[in-house]
Amino acid sequence: MTFFIHDSSYLDEGAKVGNGTKVWHFSHIMSKAEIGEKCNFGQNVFVGNNVKIGNGVKVQNNVSIYEGVELEDYVFCGPSMVFTNDMNPRAAFPKDPRQSYLKTLVKYGSSIGANATIVCGTTVGKWAFIAAGAVINKDVPDYAMMAGVPARQIGWMCKCGNKLDLEESQQCKSCNREYELLKDNQLVEKSVQL
Ligand SMILES: [Zn+2]
Repeated sequence: MTFFIHDSSYLDEGAKVGNGTKVWHFSHIMSKAEIGEKCNFGQNVFVGNNVKIGNGVKVQNNVSIYEGVELEDYVFCGPSMVFTNDMNPRAAFPKDPRQSYLKTLVKYGSSIGANATIVCGTTVGKWAFIAAGAVINKDVPDYAMMAGVPARQIGWMCKCGNKLDLEESQQCKSCNREYELLKDNQLVEKSVQL
């Protein structure tokens, strides 16, 4: 294994971490976490039990990835963004946590802005883009750009991170990838390329 864990961080026994992954200062990876290759975790990051994280994921400072959350490859978590895993917590009425956790899935390539919140039980589509401070409380389509509290869709984002203007052109001005808007608010890339 050739990953890097800073001396100030805790990697609990049993945790799986892929090659080339880096975990920086004051972080904690719990024993049943599974983390892929070439990920980068900033300062003060927590990864809970049974959390699955793909390859090439980038997590900025002060992010807690609680049990119930799954991140696919190349997800970006902005600084101090928040995941949750319990819809109705009460300190005075504790539940069996394993039964109350709702799953959150963040799909391939999507980005979550600084200080945004992803309420549990939601799926963030691939290459979606969540603006800083947004609160996501329902499923997000692929390539959708979401902003506000609660978040609503304000547009579409290209794979490359450039905002698309579909009324003007189906092609990204920055990288020339082409898209097609289907029924049911579904955007697909025409000729798939990386
Ligand atoms: Zn583009």
